[in-house]
Amino acid sequence: MRKTAVEFIREFDDFLLIAHVSPDGDTLGSCLALYCALLKLGKRAQIACADPVPKTYRFLPHADRIAAPEDTAPFSCAIAVDCADLLRTGRCAPLLSGAQHTLNIDHHGTNPNFGESNYVEIAAATGELVYHIIRELGLNPDEEMAACLYAALATDTGNFSYRNTTPDTFRIMAELLESGLDLPALNQRLFRTTSLPRLRINALAIDRLELYCNNRLGFCTLSLADLASLGATREDCESVIDIIRDIDTVEVAAFLREGMDGAVRVSMRGKTSADVSRVAQRFGGGGHRLAAGCTIRTTLEEARALLLPELEALLEGEGNAWKES
Ligand code: AMP
Ligand code: MN
Ligand code: MN
Repeated sequence: MRKTAVEFIREFDDFLLIAHVSPDGDTLGSCLALYCALLKLGKRAQIACADPVPKTYRFLPHADRIAAPEDTAPFSCAIAVDCADLLRTGRCAPLLSGAQHTLNIDHHGTNPNFGESNYVEIAAATGELVYHIIRELGLNPDEEMAACLYAALATDTGNFSYRNTTPDTFRIMAELLESGLDLPALNQRLFRTTSLPRLRINALAIDRLELYCNNRLGFCTLSLADLASLGATREDCESVIDIIRDIDTVEVAAFLREGMDGAVRVSMRGKTSADVSRVAQRFGGGGHRLAAGCTIRTTLEEARALLLPELEALLEGEGNAWKES
């Protein structure tokens, strides 16, 4: 509950904010906005993330202070931000379990309320929950907080285009704009800047696209060798899943990428009604109905063999529901 989160922050004095592995705009923007708010209240705060901050988000205020879990100073309270479950904190998990008090702020429907205190509510982005916390703490978001919250909201809503976008999202946006948000500059950094490796990865992914179920299932796999051959890293693969999803015939999109640890990272998207979080949960992951993910500890080929039938069955179920209605 929101009240629990606000009381948690009022009561204690030093916090570690934890962003999820493979950090995105929501986890980073939400952590940074909350970090700014805590400092304004005269509290001590630091941010930890198991993975480095992707280039796209390094311009965000104070992003350079985000540290690896091994580099954190002592603290008493830990706050997981935008982490669908404990595993999403990665190497930060021991820091969370070692904290005297924990708070879990998240907007994923699959979140099992793993914190001692939990503020888990369906929202467009965790940034919306952080915005409400900041207001209830009696603060007005300043320009820095607004930039961070904008990064959170704009990325998780696909630029305010996904179904999770609500009137509340736009009310928050109106207030952020009033605090002096530089919309064109932020959009330039967040959405209008790409790199050659990223473009080349997109080209390779299109080349490797597989289509099943009458072209309703779009599927793509990339190996570490593929990435290395183009001088690309994990963050260069971020738009692949959107490219597959945007194909007109595709209802369900899946992108499988071999990680540095050899495990397979899976991103899935639904377009209308297919609930991809059900498939993600079957493999120990989670997320939202139309955007979910999981990690499968097998080879790429084995992961493909495991996932394809599940996705086909999901689409067949959808097809039947369609026929019945
Ligand atoms: P992604 O495909 O990485 O953009 O993730 C889509 C959504 O699923 C995001 O909201 C993620 O937070 C969530 N998600 C991705 N991977 C996992 C996982 N292994 N466990 C739980 N949630 C995940
Ligand atoms: Mn996230
Ligand atoms: Mn999120």
